[in-house]
Amino acid sequence: MTDPVTAFPRQSHLRIDLGALARNWAFFAEHAQGAECAAVVKANGYGLGLAEVAQSLADAGCKTFFVAHAYEGERARQALGPDPVIYVLNGVMSDEVTAFLATDLRPVLNDVGQVELWAQAGLGQPAALHIDTGMNRLGLSEEDLDRVEETVFTLNLSLIMSHLACASDPQHPKNGMQREAFVSLAARLPPAPLSLAASAGILLDGDYCFDLVRPGIGLYGGGPFDQDPVPLEPVATLEAPIIQLRSVGPGDTIGYGATWQADRRRMIATVALGYADGFLRAGSNRGFAILGGAVCPIVGRVSMDLITLDVSGAGSAAKIGAMAQFLGRAAPLDAQAQALDTIPYEILTRLGDRFERSYLEG
Ligand SMILES: *Cc1c(COP(=O)(O)O)cnc(C)c1O
Repeated sequence: MTDPVTAFPRQSHLRIDLGALARNWAFFAEHAQGAECAAVVKANGYGLGLAEVAQSLADAGCKTFFVAHAYEGERARQALGPDPVIYVLNGVMSDEVTAFLATDLRPVLNDVGQVELWAQAGLGQPAALHIDTGMNRLGLSEEDLDRVEETVFTLNLSLIMSHLACASDPQHPKNGMQREAFVSLAARLPPAPLSLAASAGILLDGDYCFDLVRPGIGLYGGGPFDQDPVPLEPVATLEAPIIQLRSVGPGDTIGYGATWQADRRRMIATVALGYADGFLRAGSNRGFAILGGAVCPIVGRVSMDLITLDVSGAGSAAKIGAMAQFLGRAAPLDAQAQALDTIPYEILTRLGDRFERSYLEG
């Protein structure tokens, strides 16, 4: 990212550990039961920087990438050069076919119209076919397949895929139902490599890996399961400095709406991070930061540029200029997501461009 030249460094830092990213990819590749391990780099590499993330994954051995939008695919192509395979999950629109072909992007054909479009205009170039097995979001239903079965056999299919709705809950009966539907629908289709599993699906008991797996969140250090954390390395470290300290007494309130009130003497740190940086306002009175090893709860509302922490437990670590960690080895992404009542995906993809971003090479 190129910032306009300024005399002032950014106060808050986002460090991205590309070595940890590569090791997380290797973890999934090892657990893929012989399947090819691709990587999902949509949404700017889950907020961490598409070009940097895609390049390190390619260096780690990844040969197939998934993005959501065609423009993300174009950026991935620019970063990766001509060799890697790039699939566009959201599919292809009729006015995009020429650009798909010019950029060598493979569409994931998600409905009858896209199947017909690529059969007519795709010049025999490879594409993926998405079949719906119960997500009811994208993909052809069984009835759709009946309608275009003949056309499907004229396509050059390089992948047949579907997506699990409940893989974050390994006990969920829908996992097995979707797997069965996938196998039986794929049996009607021309032979092509099969793909069903994202991060969570790879680690489910039973064989969900087929020929190619599509991990996303796990690469970036987010645990894919609702429970039972999986040992993945943290990739993003988010830290912001304390810019003011104040002691408050019983009855004093903090911030907009006076939503938090001290019941006894407390040390409050005001930190240079807010929702304009992408730290969710839902963290008001529920998120946390780590300072000198102590868990410091967010007290009061998260405002645009500032967060207030109760640093009473941090002792001498609480001083002006000290960096409070909101994400990282000490402040795990999954724990922060749980505290904010959201998922690691949302936390990462909201991270904005107000930080100093730095990349640690493997
Ligand atoms: C986002 C996405 C993935 C990656 O999912 P994670 O849970 O992040 O591993 C895989 N497949 C599809 C179709 C997706 O939309």
